[in-house]
Amino acid sequence: MKVVILGNNVAGTFSAQNIRFLNNEVEIEIFTQENYPYYSRVHLPELIPGKTKAEDLIVFDEEWYKNKDLKLYLNKKAVNIDPKNKTILFEKDDEPVLYDKLIFALGSTPNIPPIKNAREMRDDNKGVFTLRTIDDALKIRDYIKKFALKKAIIIGGGLLGLELASQINDCNLDTTVVEFFPRLLPRQLDEECGTMLKDEIESRGIKVILNAATEEILGDGMVNSIKLKDGRKFDSDIVLIQAGIRPIIDLAKNANIKTDRGIIINEFLETSEKDIYAVGDCVQFKDQIWGIIPACIEQSKIVAASVLELKKVKYEGTTPKNTLKIVGLELTSIGIIDPIKEEGTGWEILKKSDKKDCCYQKIVLKDNKLKGAILFGDNKAISYVYKKMEQDVDKEELRKLLELYIYECSNCGAEYDESKMDVLFKNLPKDWRCPNCKNPKKGFKKK
Ligand SMILES: Cc1cc2nc3c(=O)[nH]c(=O)nc-3n(C[C@H](O)[C@H](O)[C@H](O)COP(=O)(O)OP(=O)(O)OC[C@H]3O[C@@H](n4cnc5c(N)ncnc54)[C@H](O)[C@@H]3O)c2cc1C
Repeated sequence: MKVVILGNNVAGTFSAQNIRFLNNEVEIEIFTQENYPYYSRVHLPELIPGKTKAEDLIVFDEEWYKNKDLKLYLNKKAVNIDPKNKTILFEKDDEPVLYDKLIFALGSTPNIPPIKNAREMRDDNKGVFTLRTIDDALKIRDYIKKFALKKAIIIGGGLLGLELASQINDCNLDTTVVEFFPRLLPRQLDEECGTMLKDEIESRGIKVILNAATEEILGDGMVNSIKLKDGRKFDSDIVLIQAGIRPIIDLAKNANIKTDRGIIINEFLETSEKDIYAVGDCVQFKDQIWGIIPACIEQSKIVAASVLELKKVKYEGTTPKNTLKIVGLELTSIGIIDPIKEEGTGWEILKKSDKKDCCYQKIVLKDNKLKGAILFGDNKAISYVYKKMEQDVDKEELRKLLELYIYECSNCGAEYDESKMDVLFKNLPKDWRCPNCKNPKKGFKKK
């Protein structure tokens, strides 16, 4: 049996590795349109200021593939699939490649919002960029150097937009992040933490403009500014768009395989076409697209079993897990972070908000089970949170871990429970008094 995998990043490579782990005999061929064996995209922004080199991002070199008896073909772009004849045609090739089982691990491309001139100026190399590959990062790095740029705008205040902004700022460019939503990381943070993050980002010299819908990118030849829908204009020598992803679906769609925003899969990672599977950023499962590495890894185990007809485990989705990678800035968001948007009762929040020390810890429980968390400025609870997701928690243990206390008024017994308040007891003003009996702050004792 021959398994062909299209795409050679996390999803494709781990699928191949898992198939090989389960079966020593199947023939496995992997094709990618890129010129590199599997590399990690995680540290791509660091290529721009030269903190890392392209070779350092390679996770598995070509030797690794040989040792696992996986045939890797670089610079091969698939252009057509014929499910009836089980063939794939590659650009510049006359002869199609045959498969018995085919896995789409095609990933995604950067989303370009409907901003006038954005796509054209990017495609024509006029100073507008997106970042997805090593080659993209090297192009950005060279452009900044070649024209000794001074000012940059990043459209998109999500995780990748902020990580990119931080690296561009480190190239000594005057850096501004423009975000459509009223706060940074709208999907990963609540309003309070979003505000704290904005302050922290700005304290590093990066400007942040919220509620900013970009209408047009301007420039006579090369880019020189952007214009917002409210009429404001901001000068810039380079515009970097980091506004989400779009799963690659064309090959599947043209082969009449069911697609929507992504390639539709069932719980065994099967597409609507027999013997064709999909995995990673390109898939849509139960209306959701993940776009994160943990989902690719989880799915790659299931697809390997499916391809080998060993279906045992069903895919049920992956808990969203995101960490912002900016040196000196700890931020992780996992699972459900805003119960207001969820259905049902039994939701509870334990929160520690310390604006003074720029620390925000929020734990979300439902019926005493850990459902999600935001950990900003302090990572002490991270391994506990990862370990206990979807499990019952001991609230006292959690309080200790987060250093959340209850203070009791020695006069009337009123309690100040830090986990339910916006301000930590230590940060209350000196002249604060018990709201119940007016006992002074010093009359409170830790319980
Ligand atoms: C800058 C950056 C930082 C990130 N940081 C994190 C992080 O910290 N944590 C995290 O969880 N996720 C992160 N991600 C997201 C993560 O990298 C993706 O979720 C992951 O790469 C998806 O893997 P994939 O294999 O599904 O797709 P991709 O990585 O997109 O790979 C798909 C492959 O298919 C190839 N391909 C596409 N079309 C064709 C074709 N027609 N023919 C042949 N080959 C084709 C592509 O060239 C590519 O090599 C980051 C992404 C970026 C861009």
